[in-house]
Amino acid sequence: MSAPPQHLFHPANAADYRQAVGSTLDHLLGHLAGTAGRPLTGVTPRDAAERVAAVDLDRPLGGGSEALAELSRLWLDDAIWFHEPTAAAHLNCPVVIPALMAEVLVSGVNSSLDTFDQSAGATFIERHLVDWTAARIGYDERADGIFTTGGTQSNLQALLLARGQQVAPADRLRILAGADGHFSVQKAARVLGLGDDAVVAVPVDASRRMDPAALAAALADTTADGLVPMAVVATAGTTDFGAIDPLPEVAALARAYGAWCHVDAAYGGGLLVSPRRRGRLAGIELADSVAVDFHKTWFQPVSCSALVVRDGSTLGHVTWHADYLNPKDSAHPNQVDKSLQTTRRFEALKLWMTLRMMGADAIGEHLDTVIDLTDAVAAELTAMPDIDLAAAPQLSTIVFRHRPDGLDEVALASHNAAIRAELFDDGRALVAATRVEGRAYLKLTLLNPVATVDEVLGIVAMVREAGERLVGAPGAPRPRAERLAVAR
Ligand SMILES: *Cc1c(COP(=O)(O)O)cnc(C)c1O
Repeated sequence: MSAPPQHLFHPANAADYRQAVGSTLDHLLGHLAGTAGRPLTGVTPRDAAERVAAVDLDRPLGGGSEALAELSRLWLDDAIWFHEPTAAAHLNCPVVIPALMAEVLVSGVNSSLDTFDQSAGATFIERHLVDWTAARIGYDERADGIFTTGGTQSNLQALLLARGQQVAPADRLRILAGADGHFSVQKAARVLGLGDDAVVAVPVDASRRMDPAALAAALADTTADGLVPMAVVATAGTTDFGAIDPLPEVAALARAYGAWCHVDAAYGGGLLVSPRRRGRLAGIELADSVAVDFHKTWFQPVSCSALVVRDGSTLGHVTWHADYLNPKDSAHPNQVDKSLQTTRRFEALKLWMTLRMMGADAIGEHLDTVIDLTDAVAAELTAMPDIDLAAAPQLSTIVFRHRPDGLDEVALASHNAAIRAELFDDGRALVAATRVEGRAYLKLTLLNPVATVDEVLGIVAMVREAGERLVGAPGAPRPRAERLAVAR
C-alpha cells in the first residue's frame, strides 16, 4: 500500500496527528489563559460577519498554525466562555475534563452508533448508560431509550411515540403542556403535522408550576369537544423559572385520559444524581417518557442528551427496516431502530467517562452547589429596593429586573434591554432577557459550580450601576444601531 496522503487519520500519520492536536490544544489553552474576568468581548454581529465573509474558502491556508491564527480573529478572540462566572445567561454549562477526553476519542475513532457493525462496544456503552439513567428515573427492566441531540429532539421523538399510540386523525389530536413549557413542544407539533392549534397551554399556578386543577379542566374540555388528548407534557425545570410541574398529579391525570405522559426534564434532569434534591423529581417514574439534557445540568459539552421510555417496545414507532442497514433478519443489535437519526455520533462516551472518572455524586453535587448559590444570591436581591424579583428561584435561574423610581412598564422594558446590551457590549457580563406576563425581565442562569455569591452579586451590581447611569444620563441610551456602526 502506498503511503497515505497527509491529513488522513492513519498510523503512518500518527506523529502529525499528535502534533496537530497538541498545537490545537496549546492554542486553546492560550485563549483560556486570557479570559479572566471577561466572558466575552462584545463583538458586534456586523464585525463578526464581515471578518468571516472576507475568507476565501477556495484559497486554503495550508498550515495548521495559519488556520488557527485566522480562527482566533474569526471566533476565539471573541468567543463566549462558559467557565467565567459572569457568563450567566443561558443553559449552556461549563464542561468537565473527562468529557473532553471522550471528545478526542469520539472524533478520531468516528464510530457511528446506528449499527453494531459501525460501533461494536460503543453500542453497549450507550445501552448501559440508557439502562443506568432509566434506573435512576425509577423505571423497571422494560425501559429503553436513545441518545439524542438535545431536548428538542427528545421532545419531538416522545411526541412521535405518543402519536404512534393513537388511531385518531391528526386534526383531532391535542397536546397539553404547561404555559411555561418549552417551545420545542410547539415545533414538534408542527413537524408531526398536528398544527399550531394542537398544543393547549395549561395555566401555571403562583409558583409557576402547571396547575393540576387547570389540567383536569383542560382535559375535560378537550374530550368534551370531541378531541383526543394525545399527550400531556410536564416540565421538570422550566427554562425561565426552573419550576417542576407536580409530576404525580400530572401523570395520574394523563393516565386517566389515556394520554401519553412525557416529562421534559431537559433542565431539571440533573436532579436525578443530586445527593440532596433527588426528591424534587418524585413521580417522574410514572411518566411514559423522560427527556434529559446531559449538556445542561450534567456539565457535558454540547451535544449530549437522551430520551428514556418506560416501555421500550414503544420505540418501535420509529423503526424502519432498510435492506442495506438493518434488515429484519440481522443477527446484530442496532440502535438505528430506536432513533430518528441514522448516522449518529458517540456522544454517550462523554457521560461514560464522566461517570467512570468522577462518579454521579460529583455531578449531582455540582448541581446542588449552583442551586445553593442561586438561593443565596436571590436572598440578597430581595433586600435591594431597586431590584424586582419575578419569583423565588426553584433551580438555578433568577428572573429579575432593575426598577428605578418613576419608570412605567414601557420605559422599564427598554431600560432593562439597554442595561443588558451595555453589559454585552462591554464584555463584562452576559445576562439573558425574558418576558413574564408581558413584562420585560432580565435573567441569570447559574450553572457554574465555582462561581461565588460575590461574583454573581457583582453582575447584579453592574446591572444597577448601568441602570443608574442610564437613568441619570438624559438622552441615554444611545440607539443600538449607532453602537453597532462603531468600527472596532
Ligand atoms: C433547553 C430546553 C429544551 C431544549 O433542549 P435542547 O437541548 O436545547 O434542544 C427543552 N426543554 C427545556 C425545559 C429546556 O430547558
